[in-house]
Amino acid sequence: MAQVFDGKAVAARVLGTVKAEVEAARARGVTPTLAVVLVGEDPASKIYVGRKRAACQEVGIAARDHLYPQGLGEADLLALIRELNADRGVHGILLQLPLPAGLDEGRVLDAMDPAKDVDGFHPYNLGRLLAGSPTVVPCTPAGVMELLDHYGIELKGMEAVVVGRSRIVGKPLAHLLLARHATVAICHTRTRDLAAHTRRAELLAVAAGRPQVITGEMVRPDAVVIDVGINRLSSGKLVGDVEFDSVSQRASALTPVPGGVGPMTVAMLMRNTLLAATRQAGLA
Ligand code: NAP
Repeated sequence: MAQVFDGKAVAARVLGTVKAEVEAARARGVTPTLAVVLVGEDPASKIYVGRKRAACQEVGIAARDHLYPQGLGEADLLALIRELNADRGVHGILLQLPLPAGLDEGRVLDAMDPAKDVDGFHPYNLGRLLAGSPTVVPCTPAGVMELLDHYGIELKGMEAVVVGRSRIVGKPLAHLLLARHATVAICHTRTRDLAAHTRRAELLAVAAGRPQVITGEMVRPDAVVIDVGINRLSSGKLVGDVEFDSVSQRASALTPVPGGVGPMTVAMLMRNTLLAATRQAGLA
């Protein structure tokens, strides 16, 4: 049976460190502050924003809400982003994605001050990651790396396969693994034989957003499997992109859903916000 990586416990350790550093910043007169922007009423987004706000409270980061359940036009959203960019009391901007239909995510992200982009999605920050000199690393891939490091997974030379090539998870994760000298393949919906790739993976990271798309027979014996997916079935049950029961029979280690990558994402957002605040205040 696979070892189950405890994302909740590792995230709690990260939050403990962040909390101590937030206290130190506050003692020097800087209160790290995160603007939380949520447009629309997507139920999952509301849950994620709630968790992020709770984490802010836990570590002492001030959260300022900008909630628009009735929606917001793109021009008004861009104006809000520019206002937050200019506000010296705000160190980080959390723009909860996905935006409702009709709003262009790329355009809104482009408008953000890269120094306040605590999610690391701005082209400047993604470009720095690609260039090998990261500034702000997207939270979910950063959380995956933290988890792998915590459990002492030696990435150098490893055959790594990432399923999914999104801007927020798959692509940045692949680059982080590459920077640590793994040999990386990225799979997506046009990949001809997904199982042929996943079966080669010593490290398999799955961010497809398809419930239980990876089953036991698609996994190499003794692989380390990271399940980024969060999917709610019609029964209401929360599952990952990996079929836990069959994969845990073959893998050497596996992240659960919930309690794996999810808590790590929130912890990394807190770390990124602290970093943004200390950099802007000249403390870092
Ligand atoms: P996304 O933007 O929808 O991207 C999904 C990617 O997976 C795409 O690149 C897609 O390929 C690929 N894909 C979809 N079905 C596939 C299949 N059957 N075989 C191979 N590749 C397939 O999703 P995302 O934003 O990256 O999120 C992925 C999952 O992670 C979602 O379940 C999301 O809820 C979850 N998530 C979790 C956290 C967390 O904190 N744990 C954070 C963010 C996201 P194409 O490019 O060809 O379409």
